[in-house]
Amino acid sequence: MVANLTDQWTAGREAVRVASFTHTYAALPEQFFARVDPTPVSAPRLIAVNRPLAAELDFDLGTHAAEVLAAIFAGNAVPAGATPIAMAYAGHQFGHFVPQLGDGRAILLGELRDRTGQLRDVQLKGAGRTPFSRDGDGRAALGPVLREYIVGEAMHALGIPATRALAAALTGDRIPRQGMVPGAVLTRVAASHVRVGTFQYFAARGERDSVQRLADYVIDRHYPQARAAERPYLALLEAVAARQALLIARWMHVGFIHGVMNTDNMAVSGETIDFGPCAFMDSYDPAAVFSSIDRRGRYAYGNQPAAAEWNLARLAETLLPFIDLTPERAVELATEVIAGFSTRVDRHWLAGMRAKLGLLTASADDVELIGALLDLMHGSQADFTNTFRLLCDASSAPAAAATLRTHFANPAAYDDWAGRWRARLAQEGDEPGSRAAAMRRVNPAYIPRNHRIEQAIVAAVERDDFSVFDALLEVLSRPYVESESAAPYAAPPLPAERVTKTFCGT
Ligand code: AMP
Ligand code: MG
Repeated sequence: MVANLTDQWTAGREAVRVASFTHTYAALPEQFFARVDPTPVSAPRLIAVNRPLAAELDFDLGTHAAEVLAAIFAGNAVPAGATPIAMAYAGHQFGHFVPQLGDGRAILLGELRDRTGQLRDVQLKGAGRTPFSRDGDGRAALGPVLREYIVGEAMHALGIPATRALAAALTGDRIPRQGMVPGAVLTRVAASHVRVGTFQYFAARGERDSVQRLADYVIDRHYPQARAAERPYLALLEAVAARQALLIARWMHVGFIHGVMNTDNMAVSGETIDFGPCAFMDSYDPAAVFSSIDRRGRYAYGNQPAAAEWNLARLAETLLPFIDLTPERAVELATEVIAGFSTRVDRHWLAGMRAKLGLLTASADDVELIGALLDLMHGSQADFTNTFRLLCDASSAPAAAATLRTHFANPAAYDDWAGRWRARLAQEGDEPGSRAAAMRRVNPAYIPRNHRIEQAIVAAVERDDFSVFDALLEVLSRPYVESESAAPYAAPPLPAERVTKTFCGT
């Protein structure tokens, strides 16, 4: 019965109107994308819809039957006004350039203007093969779809720019991964899907006009202020670098490890994107790596600023011809931007870390003070999230301080550090209660811990039980507000629960 849905919408029936799509990307020249419809699946079943996000996008969920929405979010029914396309891009994967990647399993339906006036892409991920699929099946497995849904929503609630999930649907088809697993489609919403690798795609082909066209598109869509600059394309590079620096610093503040920061997985909008094998670390370790494919730790937690800088240098290379007519001058100007990137990250990082420690003012010793705490945490394998959360209480309550010191292998060393911290806090004028409250607004109690994500995935994949996923999403929607019912979600994994490897699942 469900299979007939496809025929009903693609033939005969009129397409369902759910939103007002526009198509600025599909209006670009034909070499930017391939026009391709999603491939129907056997039994669409909706497993999650994001009602608040749908409301932001004026995406009408209310007036359609569940099976109609399932058909749309599984790719069986293309909604009215959508123009499905797969975007072309290239990318450096772990340092190796691949001249053609592209959306091999993602299909952009179009853009929607949200309530703040921003255009947002709506894309089906896992919706079937495209001209960019290479050997891939064009599909996504349920596990990675749920992971991306959870992490995107968690990032959003943490206040960190990220693509978000509008819906997830089961396809009813099993797909070969590590064994046969349920297939699913994620409907993803992004500020745009233009990546560093999109620029590289055209640059590598010597399509200068296309690079410029893309740069103009990105300026119009994301950085209109760059248009008025003396050198618009240099201003574009600066603007991308500025947003990326803030993004990476924000990742560092919450212990996020993207896991696969290839140039095709870095959006020029400054949103976190394509978090396949991503993870939040439990115990603090600057060398933490979870991704099974990152064997050398290229994208380890502490390497992320350098990885982003490397990616930005690749973006800069594509923009050189438009920065200055004299190649040497262009290189000089672009290099200045790239060279300033790590300072930008450090500045944001330091500002955020001060806030995490409850410091309102800056002092020359702060970097050392923060570094000393991190060293102690590293030596004690202290839980990153919980240490900072306990510091919120410890800043005002002696009892909490007593709990916190037991998290350190050498409590006396912590006492010594805490003495310096308190002395530093004492120099500030704020009242301890309001300081602790301010610290709780920047130090989350709940992050999407790997073992919790794993539990949600196992329940869904093995038992068709989505209640674990739903409960986790609920907790992660308020990461800064502690509640008794959510308390278990703050606990680090037991040894048997520890997840040491994450997979792309592609
Ligand atoms: P990712 O690892 O998801 O960032 O994907 C890297 C590249 O592989 C992109 O071009 C994807 O579109 C493509 N890809 C990943 N998985 C599949 C799949 N199952 N079928 C087709 N293409 C895929
Ligand atoms: Mg990708």
